[in-house]
Amino acid sequence: MAEAPKYEMPKAYEPAKVEQKWYKFWLEKGYFTPRIDPKKKPFVIIMPPPNVTGELHVGHALTATLEDIMIRWHRMRGEPTLWLPGVDHAGIAAQVVVEQQLAEEGLDRHKLGRKKFIERMWQWASKCRRTIAEQHQRLGASCDWGREKFTLDEGPSKAVRTAFVNLYNKGLIYRGERIINWCPRCATALSDLEVDHKEIQGHLYYVKYPLTEDGGFITVATTRPETILGDTAVAVNPKDKRFKAMLGKKAILPAVNRIIPIIADDVVDPEFGTGAVKVTPAHDPVDFDIAQRQGLELVNILNLDVTMNENAGKYAGLDRFDCRKAILADLEKDGLLVKVEPYTHSVGHCDRCQTIIEPLASRQWFIKMPPLAKSAIEAVTGGRIAIIPERFTKVYLNWLENIRDWCISRQLWWGHQIPVWYCSDCGKLTVSVDEAKACVHCGSAKIEQDPDVLDTWFSSALWTHSTLGWPDDSEELRYFYPTTVMETGYDILFFWVARMIMMGLEDTGGIPFHTVYLHGLVRDEKGEKMSKLRGNVLNPLDTLKQYGTDALRFALTGEISPGNDIKLTNARLEAGRNFANKLWNATRFVVGSIKQEEADIRIQQDKLFLEDRWILSRLSRTTSTVTKLMQNFQFGEAQRQIHDFLWGEFCDWYVELAKIRLRSGEKPSPIPVLVRVLEASLRLLHPYMPFVTEELWQNLRQRLPSKWLKTESIMVANYPKAEAKAIDPEAERVMESIIEIIHSIRNVRAQYKVESSRWIEAQIYAGELKSTITTYSEVIQTLARARPVIFLDTRKGQRGENIVALVLKESEVIIPMASMVDLGAERKRLKKEIEETRAEVARLEARLKDKAFLSKAPGEVVAGERDKLATRKDKLERLKQGLEKLS
Ligand SMILES: [Zn+2]
Ligand SMILES: [Zn+2]
Repeated sequence: MAEAPKYEMPKAYEPAKVEQKWYKFWLEKGYFTPRIDPKKKPFVIIMPPPNVTGELHVGHALTATLEDIMIRWHRMRGEPTLWLPGVDHAGIAAQVVVEQQLAEEGLDRHKLGRKKFIERMWQWASKCRRTIAEQHQRLGASCDWGREKFTLDEGPSKAVRTAFVNLYNKGLIYRGERIINWCPRCATALSDLEVDHKEIQGHLYYVKYPLTEDGGFITVATTRPETILGDTAVAVNPKDKRFKAMLGKKAILPAVNRIIPIIADDVVDPEFGTGAVKVTPAHDPVDFDIAQRQGLELVNILNLDVTMNENAGKYAGLDRFDCRKAILADLEKDGLLVKVEPYTHSVGHCDRCQTIIEPLASRQWFIKMPPLAKSAIEAVTGGRIAIIPERFTKVYLNWLENIRDWCISRQLWWGHQIPVWYCSDCGKLTVSVDEAKACVHCGSAKIEQDPDVLDTWFSSALWTHSTLGWPDDSEELRYFYPTTVMETGYDILFFWVARMIMMGLEDTGGIPFHTVYLHGLVRDEKGEKMSKLRGNVLNPLDTLKQYGTDALRFALTGEISPGNDIKLTNARLEAGRNFANKLWNATRFVVGSIKQEEADIRIQQDKLFLEDRWILSRLSRTTSTVTKLMQNFQFGEAQRQIHDFLWGEFCDWYVELAKIRLRSGEKPSPIPVLVRVLEASLRLLHPYMPFVTEELWQNLRQRLPSKWLKTESIMVANYPKAEAKAIDPEAERVMESIIEIIHSIRNVRAQYKVESSRWIEAQIYAGELKSTITTYSEVIQTLARARPVIFLDTRKGQRGENIVALVLKESEVIIPMASMVDLGAERKRLKKEIEETRAEVARLEARLKDKAFLSKAPGEVVAGERDKLATRKDKLERLKQGLEKLS
């Protein structure tokens, strides 16, 4: 027999001492890297790439935890499992961060120049990438670091250029003048999704436009009077009878005296303002469409820094809001401002810097979305892609059915430069995946690349295939694509998930993933969104230091269900830490109990005790439930089941029963079952709490004969499988009864505040379970501190005095009062209290008969005394009954 090592576990679990050691061990063993095995179906998650804008926040920690749970689980099930990590260059978001740093140094990107600025961006991005990788490692993320990707790496960049060129050649990418959202602070166009719409308390200004003939007027209403300068028509609804006579006439635009037509268009809402609306095609998307239909002129009145340009006449050079004031003053002076009403309306703000965006007509690159949306809709309605929770399917389809063209050019420097070259000789475009050296049309070398970059979400949309080698026909792309699960927050369903589906289908012809799993937001104790502004942000690294990684993971996923927001509270973090400690103590007991002569710990199936059969049955049932829950993405409930089994059944009951048996020396020893259940439970829990389970499993492994646990690490051991033959309903029934009996006695002790040193008597009627439960008399005595324990042959019911009777599921427990309290002393105490209460009742009665009191005291005082009398009388009655019971 192999000699077990002399070994003792430290008294307490110290996460900081073990976490980095195990992560390094896993990494060195290469466990995170899957082996491509054509005979097996792989499980693949491409990690949503965090932005290179700083550190990970608690939302990233949730993403990493959920994905790591899935990844570890599938890996333990023997599937080749790939979790590919990456980082996003984050276009505008990252550029804003570095621009702020430059501003602090008294610099800006223009002073620095494009080349130097991009160098600064790379320095920043590399630093962030390192931080993000380290933080993911601290979280225990078991991703394949050898395959880590950055959106600006050569591979993904080539994918971006290829996708662009393909779409351009198919006519799905075009350059055109459209109304875009312009952020003057960021000095770039934004897509519709990058604009936050906020309700603003503003004004509705009614302005008279004089007609060119018969001295009449037409009145329009606007929230942005400065845009009057860009009007090229006044429009009314063709069905609106009020304006019938006006149609075809001309108005004189105030402030600039331009002559504009009065036209009819179906889009005009007769209910808004006066029913006549100003048309400003260069600064409003609806008006832009009217102008396209009606052949109206476009007059752009803004410079890109949102000062007024030369088209604004005498207002040229003013800031947009100063211009508004100046125009209003002039209109007032000329008697053209009819009235001003308070008006709440929605105003677009840049979602990066919160500056009010300005809609303006601009020449930009767009993707024609409806043809791409069509196949993305079919992928979901046809069941090839499932969205969890299902309710987001409708949201997804609704968005795609109403999709608008996507503005993809950004006037930034940080990102993928648009692969288009303009020829100054023939004026034609060269669109090319590789760096163009000459115009493809005329051969001229006088070509210049478009200075703009692509929206950062363009490269994100290719992420599932660009990370696996597309457009090359790589082995990885063939094996790992389509990926299995796309796990991300529901807040980027449109930004990212929908676009990945469209581009995945477009580029590869196949779906990018089979399942979309959407998680909710992490909120604080009060359910508020965490934000720096509110100051309620929990920094994941701080919580790691304070509670340990496993506690944070436990807290994040403990109550999670698909698509719902979760609260991260200190109480949940503490619960996570307590759970780790509980497991530590239980394992320490098991490890400490393994004797050398017991080192061969085979379970003797035919000699099992009732509690052995019970815990093995419960383990099997829990395993089966947990597996089903995880298959259905119910990770929060699965974690709760594992926790409740380990804490509420294994630690609280089986370990306690085992201690009694070990003390009594009864054979067979409970050690084999203790080891079996603990070892399997640790594997069950491993995907959720990887560090503490590895530490405990290794401690157990060291104490066992070398052949017993052959694998080197819990993370590559098999995930437990339910054993149907271990299910034992009879053992569960009896053990549940025993637990219920002990529970009920403990509750009564607490209720009557019985001192823990005092033994109380328990009479038990156990019906048909009597013969089995009788053999647990010793256990009941020890765990409930009940002595003597007497077994009754008949049910006693509620009869009899001086007892507490507890009617349980299959049994009944009777506890004589005298065994809990000292009857003589209790009687004495009650008598004293009765006397005192009686005296008070007499005093109150006398007072309420006193005519002087009744006539002088205010009504509410008298009423108060009457109430007091009623409660005292009631108390007196209860005290008397209590005393009667004791006699
Ligand atoms: Zn901005
Ligand atoms: Zn040319």
